[in-house]
Amino acid sequence: MASRLMRFHMVVAAVAVLGFLAVPDGSTLQLVWQVAVGWLTAAIIVAAVRSRRPELSATWWLIALGVAGNASGILVEYVLTRTQADPGFPSWADAAYLSLYPACATGLLLLIRRRTAQRDWSGLVDATTLTTGMGLLAWVFMVKPAAADPTIGLLGHIVSVAYPVGDVVLLAMTVRLMISGGARNTSFRLVCAALGCFLAGDGAWAVINQMVWEPGPMAHKVLADVFLAGYLLFGAAAAHPDVRSLARAVAPRTGRISRTLLLALTVASLIGPTLLILQAVRDRVTDALAIALGCIALFLLVLVRMSQLITQLDRQTERVRELAVTDELTGLPNRRAWNTELPRAVERARRTGVPLTVAVVDIDHFKRFNDAYGHPAGDRLLKEAAAAWQEQLRSVDHLARYGGEEFVLMLPDAAVEQGGAILDRMRRATPLGQTFSAGIATWNGTETSDELTARADAALYEAKNAGRDRIVAARESALA
Ligand code: GH3
Ligand code: MG
Ligand code: MG
Repeated sequence: MASRLMRFHMVVAAVAVLGFLAVPDGSTLQLVWQVAVGWLTAAIIVAAVRSRRPELSATWWLIALGVAGNASGILVEYVLTRTQADPGFPSWADAAYLSLYPACATGLLLLIRRRTAQRDWSGLVDATTLTTGMGLLAWVFMVKPAAADPTIGLLGHIVSVAYPVGDVVLLAMTVRLMISGGARNTSFRLVCAALGCFLAGDGAWAVINQMVWEPGPMAHKVLADVFLAGYLLFGAAAAHPDVRSLARAVAPRTGRISRTLLLALTVASLIGPTLLILQAVRDRVTDALAIALGCIALFLLVLVRMSQLITQLDRQTERVRELAVTDELTGLPNRRAWNTELPRAVERARRTGVPLTVAVVDIDHFKRFNDAYGHPAGDRLLKEAAAAWQEQLRSVDHLARYGGEEFVLMLPDAAVEQGGAILDRMRRATPLGQTFSAGIATWNGTETSDELTARADAALYEAKNAGRDRIVAARESALA
């Protein structure tokens, strides 16, 4: 049933778009054709919402409404020109045409918000930058000329400005949709293509209005066909099975700027200065204020984006620094952290004369434990032992994982006896009935941190040789 809808729509779309080119110009059929395609698309969207039950059906009701309203404008205009000598501008047809903008923009806004799980500030800044650049173009070429026409009244000005403003809003939504998170499935691409058709069509009209060239009937027809394609692509997006997951939130790739996006941002930022150069070359700078304001906005947006990237970089650097000195399994400081910390502690002991004791701890027969209970159980033991031991330490003590099932302990302001007492507490706290052996050494006042560790290690070796499950104090210890 569901895929039948898609197939039916594909046939309708092909006939509608290609057939339109063969319909005679200025005929009633041409008009009926456009209205029918709009209404049929709206009907297909409604049918799709009912059969596919997409998340966030409100978006689709609004798009259906916008498409039907827009297409109705053609009918209203026809009726008005038939019944009135001069329907004038603006007329009710404009209200119908314009209804596409608020309906689609609201539908898209709902969709964008649903598709981004958490606030996506960088996406918002990027979209605003692109929209500001394009908005400046629209202002110079579409909004200002529309507002300047002396032949239309106030309402006429408002309505003629509403079209380009509607386009800029729609453009903002399109860019936001494309940049933000959410599923990038077929339905998503079809929605983007539909929006692209409307924007390209309106953009083409804006360009044509700037030129002396009057488009012939074929150009008119092709342009009208682009809008029909826009309707139909919305219909296809709704009829495609992917529409169900279109509103699902997928986290965007945070803060990353792709090359395409960077290029688009560059182009958007250069629109203002380029316009100014063009007007200056022609000796007719008519939009200095608008261009200056646009440039200020763009500079500020670029600065905001830069500060976002710097914040993100700082955060990542901090995280990398943390990871570099942390043991993943136990969360304890790792060997690298130990190797930086111990020389500092030795230096402190040298300056203050306060004793410093270190111990090397090695779990007994850990290989046997792994063999008996499996590697994951061995991992759990390491983790639980690390946590249990840490509870027995004073706040000044440092426990680190040296590697494998070997740990090192730094006990500032403790001589061998106190160190032994702490290690005894740790032995009693070792989980799952396991034992460890330890070598303990107090700094002798002259040796390097490496020599100190080596002495503790030698003592550990003695403890293992003496039968394990014991603590041995290193020899040559000056304070022992
Ligand atoms: P001893 O009493 O002499 O210290 O014997 P042992 O078995 O504890 O020592 P040995 O050096 O022979 O074996 C250490 C074992 O620790 C071998 C290795 O597979 C295991 N091991 C090292 N790192 C990890 C780890 O991260 N997780 C687990 N589960 N096992 C590890
Ligand atoms: Mg061991
Ligand atoms: Mg070992």
